[in-house]
Formats: sequence, C-alpha cells, structure tokens
Amino acid sequence: MADTLYMIVPCYNEHDVLPETSKRLKEKFIYLIKNNMISEKSRVVFVNDGSKDDTWDIISKLHESNPEFFSGICLSRNCGHQNAVLAGLMTVKDICDLSITMDADLQDDINAVDEMLERYYEGNQVVYGVRSARKTDTFFKKFTAEGFYKFMKVMGADVVYNHADYRLMSSRVLQELSGYKEVNLFLRGMIPLIGFKSCNVYYERAERFAGESKYPLKKMIAFAINGITSFSTKPLKLITYLGFIMFIVSIAAFIWAVVAKVGGFSVHGWSSTMVSIWLIGGLQLLCLGIIGEYVGKIYAEVKQRPRYIVSDFLNEIDFINKE
Ligand code: UDP
Ligand code: MG
Repeated sequence: MADTLYMIVPCYNEHDVLPETSKRLKEKFIYLIKNNMISEKSRVVFVNDGSKDDTWDIISKLHESNPEFFSGICLSRNCGHQNAVLAGLMTVKDICDLSITMDADLQDDINAVDEMLERYYEGNQVVYGVRSARKTDTFFKKFTAEGFYKFMKVMGADVVYNHADYRLMSSRVLQELSGYKEVNLFLRGMIPLIGFKSCNVYYERAERFAGESKYPLKKMIAFAINGITSFSTKPLKLITYLGFIMFIVSIAAFIWAVVAKVGGFSVHGWSSTMVSIWLIGGLQLLCLGIIGEYVGKIYAEVKQRPRYIVSDFLNEIDFINKE
C-alpha cells in the first residue's frame, strides 16, 4: 500500500493561476495513484494566505466539486509565504505520511514529484527540489537570487544552494519541525537543522505562467536579512572585528599625528577630519542598526504570539479517489 501524500500549496491572490494549477495537479495525482506511488487518500491542500481576491472562493469550489483531490485551509489574514507553508504542514502533519510543499504558480516543475517520491521510498526523509538552471529568470532576478545564496553562506546561514521551498518531507520530519517554535520563520534554514537522511532532486524552474510575482525586490531583501539574522550571529562578530580594526587604525593615526607634529609638517587637514567623522558616524549607525535587528528579533520571539491562525479547514478524509 502506497503512502498518503498531502501537497501544500500556499496561495496569495492567485486567481489567475489556480484553475490551471488545480487541473495539472489533479492529472498528476491521478497518474501517481494509478502507478501506486501515492495512496488514494492523498490530497492537494491549498492554503489561502489572506488573499484580497476570490482565491478562497475558488479553493472552496474546487473542494466542493472534487473533495477526493482538493482540500483547503483558510488563514485569518495574510501571514506571509513562510507562515502559510508552515500552517499547511502543521495542519496535516498527523493525517499524512509525507508532504510536498510547492508554489501555486507552477514555476516548480511538478514532474519532479515522481523522482522525489522515488527518493522518498528509497529511505530519504527530506528531498530538496533544486533548480538546475535559471534560463527563464531575468538577469536581475538571477543575479540577486544567486547572490542571495552566496551571501547567506558567507554570513553563516547554511542553506541548500538554489533550493527554494519546493521540498518533500516525511511526517516524522514534520513532527520534529513542530518542535521549532520560532516566530521569525526561515524554513530553508530550519529543515537542514532537523537532520535525517536527505537528498536533492534537480529540475528546471519555469516562468510564472500567469499573474505577477508576490516577491518584489523589497520583500526579497527583507527575506534575506531575516534569513541571516535568524540563523547566524556572524554579523555581530563582524562588528567586533570592525571595532578592533578601527582601534588599530586609530592608534596608527595617533602615532602619525604625533610624528607630524614633532616633525613640523602637520597640515590643517579639514577634509581628512570631515571624512573620518562621517565614516565613523556611519559605521557606528550601521553597527547599531545590526544590533537593533537582533534585539527586535528577540522582542518578537519572547512575545510568543501564534504564527498564524487557521480559520477554516476543508478536508474530507474518507473520500477515496475512484478515477
Ligand atoms: N505567497 C503567499 N503569501 C504571501 C506571498 C506569496 O502565500 O504573502 C505565495 C504565492 O501565492 C506563491 C508563493 O507564495 O504560491 C511564491 O510566491 P511568488 O511566486 O510570488 O514568488 P516568486 O516565485 O516570484 O519568488
Ligand atoms: Mg513564483
């Protein structure tokens, strides 16, 4: 008997893509069930992340017409992509054997699911979907996204290179994930920390086929800063190093000033004074800002507010696929 898959698909204003996405996922599920790769109790779970359009109506209708394929979770408001994914995973962790998380826009190749399942049955508890090429991304997106992974690594947050949130996880891993209570979510950094046997599956990332990206540059930068400050204290260490270097430089400057004075060749340097004041002032503000980021994080964590609130869960466990 094959295992039960719950596929989690976060949706924020996805009116344009849902009809096509649900059609393709349904075909995929029929194929997978026929080939005995997943059980007939498997479901696609669309998570409505506080959409402003009629996304939830579409999801409800999908569930009504095909309860044997589609389930829906509605969050009480927009909580962001990471929280929407987590809400889906935590809601289904006790009723599935494995989960796959995937974006609603079909940028992740759904045919990679076959290989992911094979790797799962070989004993892997986590299978990461990794992009092999970014042919369809614009130069700017490619440059910023790849820079993001490299920068993350340098800053001490170990993430799987070119892996977004397209991944398979067994229910065992989901149980362990539920023990991670942090409010500042960065799943890509958290899952590798859980451990267990894992592997990569490669696929080519397509273009968003309709609608527009919900991750503009501003959100991407915020996401990168969140990732780094949630997983590494390296920036704080860098501040210490910087302070040390500034100290050495100031000693050298002091010696130079004395030598210049004694030698009688000191000039009344207005520009050098101005430049150093601005430089030191700027550096101090930057360092304060970095420390502030961490203090703000601690503030958010100690409040321990719920990360999301599920207002509706449409799921008919007993329906069996008959096609
Ligand atoms: N998403 C979400 N909540 C948000 C923003 C995005 O659930 O606040 C979902 C969105 O519907 C999509 C996925 O997250 O399924 C990835 O978003 P998008 O495709 O816009 O990002 P990109 O691929 O451009 O980085
Ligand atoms: Mg996308």
